[in-house]
Amino acid sequence: MDLDLTGRVAVITGASSGIGEATARTLAAHGAAVVLLARRGDRIQAIQQELALEGHSALAIETDVTDAASLQRAVVGARELGRVDLLVNNAGVMLLSPFDEARVAEWKRMVDTNVTGVFLTTNAFLDDLKDGGGDIVNISSVAGRTTAKNTSVYNATKWGVVGWSDALRQELIEHDVRVGLIEPGAVETELAGHIASEAAASVFHDRFDGMDILQSVDIADAILYMASRPKWAAVNEILVRPSKQP
Ligand code: NDP
Repeated sequence: MDLDLTGRVAVITGASSGIGEATARTLAAHGAAVVLLARRGDRIQAIQQELALEGHSALAIETDVTDAASLQRAVVGARELGRVDLLVNNAGVMLLSPFDEARVAEWKRMVDTNVTGVFLTTNAFLDDLKDGGGDIVNISSVAGRTTAKNTSVYNATKWGVVGWSDALRQELIEHDVRVGLIEPGAVETELAGHIASEAAASVFHDRFDGMDILQSVDIADAILYMASRPKWAAVNEILVRPSKQP
């Protein structure tokens, strides 16, 4: 199977940790020039330097996906590596809580990052992507297909991405841009560490403690597979769960 991305320029949001970091490393290892976006500039710069030492073409641009002006700077900066033809919308937050804890600021942060942030990022890079075709890979979640207690607002954001992604897929066919969706189950990353609700954190840990959950590279491999298909084959959707996740 040909997984070569030589000549491609990939932008990865949320590249400072977890799935985004693994994706940047995996895509670079398969020949792509990679642009790492995240708010923690020190983290993405350190990854960029490692990639450069390994001989890869990489750029780190401190970016907040909820801020259109910040994204515009990223678009201009990314062109240093060439026309962007692969966008991985990965940045996200999962601030789980029982709905009646009414953590309104956390709801807003999830909607701003997981939904509006994905719209703003896609809009910012769309002209580049349409100019010759390419791929958009959206990271939703199993939580965009199934629901559970304490995950209602996170569910709403990820279900939103699922619906938006497939509608966009149909709009962009005429521009030779493929739009695909990756839906990870539980992956060992920093994501759950930000849950502030004690009730939700304890239910979450009860579900997954002791289970062999996914590693970020498992998802990076799915992204690589999706983006490296020949022009005539669009892999629209991949759902990956840990083998033991019900
Ligand atoms: P991490 O917490 O390790 O990564 C999240 C990334 O998002 C970080 O790099 C963070 O960077 C970035 N980010 C958050 N807010 C912003 C922002 N406003 N602007 C730019 N970047 C931002 O978790 P994961 O790797 O697990 O998460 C990646 C994606 O995978 C998310 O969309 C998540 O919902 C999804 N997912 C994860 C699963 C899991 O079990 N881990 C399961 C299903 C889906 P920084 O803070 O530096 O800005």
